[in-house]
Amino acid sequence: MRIFKFGGASVKDAAGVQRVSSIVKHFSKDDILIVVSAMGKTTNALELLVQYFLDKNEEACRKQFSLIRDQHLDLVELLFKSSKADDYRAIKAEVEEQFQHLESILETPAVGGFNRVYDQIVSFGEIISTKIISAYLNHDGFENQWLDARRLIRTDQNYRAARVDWNYSSRLVEEAIQTGRSFVIQGFIASDDHYNATTLGREGSDYTASVLAYILKAKELSIWKDVPGVLNGDPKVFEDTQLLQKISFREAIELAFYGASVIHPKTIQPLQERGIPLRVRSFADLKEEGTLISEGVALEPFMPCFIRKENQQLITISTRDLAFIAEDHLSMIYKLFHRYGLRVNLSQHSATRSAFCVNNDPIAGPPLIEELKQNFDLSVDGQLELYTVRHYNDAALAEIRKRGHILLEQLSADTYQIVIR
Ligand code: ASP
Ligand code: MG
Repeated sequence: MRIFKFGGASVKDAAGVQRVSSIVKHFSKDDILIVVSAMGKTTNALELLVQYFLDKNEEACRKQFSLIRDQHLDLVELLFKSSKADDYRAIKAEVEEQFQHLESILETPAVGGFNRVYDQIVSFGEIISTKIISAYLNHDGFENQWLDARRLIRTDQNYRAARVDWNYSSRLVEEAIQTGRSFVIQGFIASDDHYNATTLGREGSDYTASVLAYILKAKELSIWKDVPGVLNGDPKVFEDTQLLQKISFREAIELAFYGASVIHPKTIQPLQERGIPLRVRSFADLKEEGTLISEGVALEPFMPCFIRKENQQLITISTRDLAFIAEDHLSMIYKLFHRYGLRVNLSQHSATRSAFCVNNDPIAGPPLIEELKQNFDLSVDGQLELYTVRHYNDAALAEIRKRGHILLEQLSADTYQIVIR
């Protein structure tokens, strides 16, 4: 079985959905499991809805709900109206029914904390997008069944960052696919053991696709994107970026770790464990093969890869009595970072001073800094950028160094990192 994943950008409008149909029809001699995200920016719109709901801002809540509902119903009309009236009526009724479910959640008092409420509401983005896409594919001659990830992918109750129960989910998924050939299922969403919706973290559809590829021992996972594949840098940030044709799993994990955003960092590991190749390819051009990520291949073409992380903070910690910063201090400091959930992107140490570059987190940052201040002298530099260059050369270093005032720089055999203002 092939696993195809289409992200929100690929299905943001009628042309996108039609494009998905032509792609899957092109591969229709194989069985395909199609994993889909919410359409366009629907997840962001639903996040706003959660906010209004919890703020008890009824007016804004109603408006936001109608906006999301109308967008989807307009799309259904564009896709189906001109053809078979029965198909149009059926999918319109299904989408309306889903919006009624959502509305009934909004009309009852919130149950549980923010994260739990978030998952119950935000998960509708994927439910509705897959309803529409599955119906359109059937309508357009690509026979498929709609699957409900909330019935098949079981997680714990760690809402918004739920962890998959692999054994349980495997059994359910394997059973479900006995009933047909090709399927459409939601990325990003799952459920706990009471069938409350859970989500796997923003941009988590890639991860769902990878989980399903693992469970089904797929021969390949293709992630269809609105870019040609994995480039050696984000074209919005760097000039003259080039397509990487081949990347090893290890390199892909490294790139994701440093902040490359093309693939969700959790995606690679399950694939690597089963040796399932991942292809990241352009949704606009079927002839282009995109990027192949697989076991052990050398980076091809071999060239520097650039990553920028914005909104960084440099926390510099020094001892008050000029004592050395020793392992016991460091272990205490790292424990605090861990407890507040802040990942250290880069660190550098001298005798009496340690610098830590972390994401600027307006919620976890301030209390962490307060706690550190109880034991150390602290200086905090905000609004910084962290650049990482894998496989650097002299020209790459020169290009990055001139981007700003250098606060910290680090070089290892294959990776260069720099914090600048
Ligand atoms: N729709 C979700 C999000 O925007 C999941 C995804 O797109 O992968 O975060
Ligand atoms: Mg999305």
